[in-house]
Amino acid sequence: MFLIDSHIHLYLKDFKSEVNTLIEEAQDHNIKQFLLPNIDLSSIDDVISLCKQYPKTCYPMIGLHPCSVKKNYLSNLEKLEKKMKLTKFIAIGEIGIDLYWDRSLIEEQKNAFRIQIKWAKKHNLPIVVHCRNSFDEIYKILEEEVDENLHGVLHCFGGTLEQANKLLNLNFYLGIGGVLTFKNSNLDSIIKKIPLEKIIIETDAPYLAPDPYRGKRNEPKYLYLIAKKLCEIKNISMTQLTMQLYKNTNFLFFNEKYLISDNL
Ligand SMILES: [Zn+2]
Repeated sequence: MFLIDSHIHLYLKDFKSEVNTLIEEAQDHNIKQFLLPNIDLSSIDDVISLCKQYPKTCYPMIGLHPCSVKKNYLSNLEKLEKKMKLTKFIAIGEIGIDLYWDRSLIEEQKNAFRIQIKWAKKHNLPIVVHCRNSFDEIYKILEEEVDENLHGVLHCFGGTLEQANKLLNLNFYLGIGGVLTFKNSNLDSIIKKIPLEKIIIETDAPYLAPDPYRGKRNEPKYLYLIAKKLCEIKNISMTQLTMQLYKNTNFLFFNEKYLISDNL
């Protein structure tokens, strides 16, 4: 069993020439697979080519990040959707609503989110949701769209216990990242009350490095620090944690048939 980084932007230019070394360093910490969320039309080919370069190690997602939803979003979505004909993606992501920087395109963001949820349902793929200053808006759409096909994760969860429980009731997972290690984040007291069966972990590298690297470039191997903190909170061994997270991540992103044929 090994750890899987469920959300990492390993294809960005922040890493370029170092990717090989960074993957090897992560492997030394028993981190062996990386799930790559897309950002926009300009990044998707880099996502795909890195996954081709590292088969069974890197896996691609497709989606339009809410901060990349501009006035021309419909034509960008159309172009992205065409990519789904040629490549097998493991999820639609990252998608969602971000009202931190700018509220002026809120209707466009909501519509783009809804359209991409429809893709996920059509292809029976999980969604990877980005939520920043927008929990109520996102929850409302998820509630409207929920059915037996809709499943996914709210990545980089940093909300309240009430919000966490609302997501669990929709059968969503919580993606837990570096924020868990931040002093005063209060996330540890919330995660203590959440069943481990509903948690997956991520770095979101190059962003959101965990302590003691907070503010620096995040790296794949730092997933280990998030896992370690989670062991402390749940009072379990790294082996127990790794087994449960492995199960959760495979259950969400790969069906069990895949799990058996590919990893045993
Ligand atoms: Zn991200």
